[in-house]
Amino acid sequence: MTAAYHPSQRAYDTPPASYWRDSAGAWSPPPTALPRRAEVAVIGGGYTGLSAALELARAGRDVLVIEAAFVGWGASGRNGGFCCLGSSMHDHETLARRYGDVRAGGFRRAQHDAIGHVRRLILGEGIECDIAGEGELELAHGRRQWRRMQRESGHEDGARLLDRADLYREGYAISGVYGGRHIRAGFGLHPLKYAHGLGRAVLAAGGRISEACPVLAVTPVAGGYELQTAQGIVRAEKVVLAGNGYTPRGLRRETDQGLLPVLSSIVVTRPLTPAEIAAQGWSGETMAYDSRYLLHYFRLLPDKRLLMGGRGGLSGAPGEARHIRRRLQQQIGRYFPAWRHVPVTHFWQGFICLARDLLPHAGVFAGGGGFFHALAYHGNGVAMASWLGARIGQVAAGTLALDEAVPALLRRPLPAFPFPCLRKAYLRGAYGWYRLADWFG
Ligand SMILES: Cc1cc2nc3c(=O)[nH]c(=O)nc-3n(C[C@H](O)[C@H](O)[C@H](O)COP(=O)(O)OP(=O)(O)OC[C@H]3O[C@@H](n4cnc5c(N)ncnc54)[C@H](O)[C@@H]3O)c2cc1C
Repeated sequence: MTAAYHPSQRAYDTPPASYWRDSAGAWSPPPTALPRRAEVAVIGGGYTGLSAALELARAGRDVLVIEAAFVGWGASGRNGGFCCLGSSMHDHETLARRYGDVRAGGFRRAQHDAIGHVRRLILGEGIECDIAGEGELELAHGRRQWRRMQRESGHEDGARLLDRADLYREGYAISGVYGGRHIRAGFGLHPLKYAHGLGRAVLAAGGRISEACPVLAVTPVAGGYELQTAQGIVRAEKVVLAGNGYTPRGLRRETDQGLLPVLSSIVVTRPLTPAEIAAQGWSGETMAYDSRYLLHYFRLLPDKRLLMGGRGGLSGAPGEARHIRRRLQQQIGRYFPAWRHVPVTHFWQGFICLARDLLPHAGVFAGGGGFFHALAYHGNGVAMASWLGARIGQVAAGTLALDEAVPALLRRPLPAFPFPCLRKAYLRGAYGWYRLADWFG
């Protein structure tokens, strides 16, 4: 499905020109020639694959991560660094109505556990990844959204409402916003430093990582699977698919028909001066996002650059990317008028991954029982990909049963899109609809 986008979006030999890349330091593991055998092969070196591999290696399994580019090349090295609640596009109330309180509650606990899991992992493995801010701020971009927040404020544990004056007083002065809600869960991090740290933890635990090695096909054979890769054949008893929005066509029918990769884009400014920060009155490092369907997310980074992210377009072609970069820069000017003229130094894009039911999925593919997957985090995978990856790694290692490891809501088979070839058209329609909804508030 990613083939439907401009080829530059899948250039495995080109590092994304991100601010993270410029500030992460080198990732230089000892080069590993592709082994011919492994007990478990993990396809993908992002948070999901590395977290799965870490659990497998810790359990004493012979695990090999096979990554088409290099560790953190996909969304895991390109995201906004919001380690936060999320991973579904439905809120808790909708899920409870649709699937019942028990299932929705299990998923909600998993969302909170996922944040705790990342924090413990970072501390336990000594990963230096610039943790910053406490919780997240949802900002109402219209009167209606502000009234909704006021109505719902009692529902979210520990949520605190802030009106415009509160926002200003607490160092979050922003234009065109009616108020906000601070949710205590989550923190910001440097996503690529975190991915590198996970990679180093895998190697230290005895796992192996082969890079620059796209997996082209996976075939069931006696006693396991044969993986055809760009560097030759690997045999493994078990396979974990952790390609998320970068999963190519042809690996599994379920992912061919059930995943919708969608572009997301980010700009980062040069560091703001103390005078510029004072002039705007936004000085806090708490992660923030607005209440639009097609939302903008932003945070002041530890070196005082502003990061702003948003929707990424339908083609991924260079001309469209330039337009999106301009649009994000204009949005900085709307929310932060004092920073209207501050230059943007970095712009990049990457794939997030949607499923038809707008929920993440993890489990075992039908047939054989040794082909696992965890994917579809709907643009919120820093916490959930780390947690679900670890869980599915434990299942593949045989140390945890699937029904104990993964909430029931996420264990359901990945549903196919009706007429999968029309997925881009659905996306175009959804963008149009959400743009209207945001316009009319
Ligand atoms: C611009 C952007 C901003 C985002 N912001 C946030 C945020 O602030 N907070 C948040 O929680 N989430 C955010 N996300 C989403 C989050 O980054 C992802 O959900 C998460 O990184 C998914 O991790 P993953 O390991 O499953 O997939 P990825 O990190 O995408 O990794 C998949 C890897 O698999 C490899 N691969 C795929 N197919 C093959 C193959 N056949 N052979 C070998 N290797 C293969 C790819 O090369 C890739 O490196 C954002 C995403 C983007 C793109």
